[in-house]
Amino acid sequence: MKKLGSLIVLSGPSGVGKSSLIKALLAAEPELKFSISCTTRAPRPGEVDHRDYHFLTVAEFEARLRAGAFVEHAAVHRNYYGTLRSEVLEPTRAGQDVLLDIDVQGARQIRAAAARDPELARSAEFLFIGPPSLAVLEARLRGRGTDDEPTIRLRLSNAEAELRAWCEYDYVIVNDRLEEAAAELIGLVRTLRLRAPRWRENPFGLTEGE
Ligand code: 5GP
Repeated sequence: MKKLGSLIVLSGPSGVGKSSLIKALLAAEPELKFSISCTTRAPRPGEVDHRDYHFLTVAEFEARLRAGAFVEHAAVHRNYYGTLRSEVLEPTRAGQDVLLDIDVQGARQIRAAAARDPELARSAEFLFIGPPSLAVLEARLRGRGTDDEPTIRLRLSNAEAELRAWCEYDYVIVNDRLEEAAAELIGLVRTLRLRAPRWRENPFGLTEGE
């Protein structure tokens, strides 16, 4: 394979509209593979095991953690979340573009792993999605109607901390109007695929030194 895939790491607080943006992106870019994370949280209505997440018990998660199966993992909102190595490393090496929806703690671990692994460094791109304001985010979380009051309060205080990490990322999208943010995200992913570091060999068939 002449090219590495892009490893698109997408972070942003709950309620920012990441799921809708990811849906629009995957519809526009069906070749992009969504990395299915493991989690110990309960499925929400409509979520499907092995499609949205691999839903695990705490014991199952900890067994995978001990076996070194995760490239990153974090406790988010009192549950474990983790990205399987098999979901990201082999596919990007085989030229597949992969999308990760992970929190800022997980993104930091991928950045640290990329500092030790040159191929990962050439694949990884870090994107942050934020709301126009914390008040808009709160209104969206309440409007979603999926969480109880203590969960909403916890998600909001985590959101504020996450929003302060925006400057660790390479690209920022403010999701004010969904269609505009989706167009920005799709355009960005298409551009990132063209980055020169993706090439493992001369793109024009020249041997190096010519
Ligand atoms: P939710 O429970 O709303 O699906 O996700 C809560 C948060 O966990 C989101 O910010 C999401 O990005 C993050 N998350 C989902 N999967 C992973 C993962 O594999 N690793 C990490 N670090 N965070 C994740």
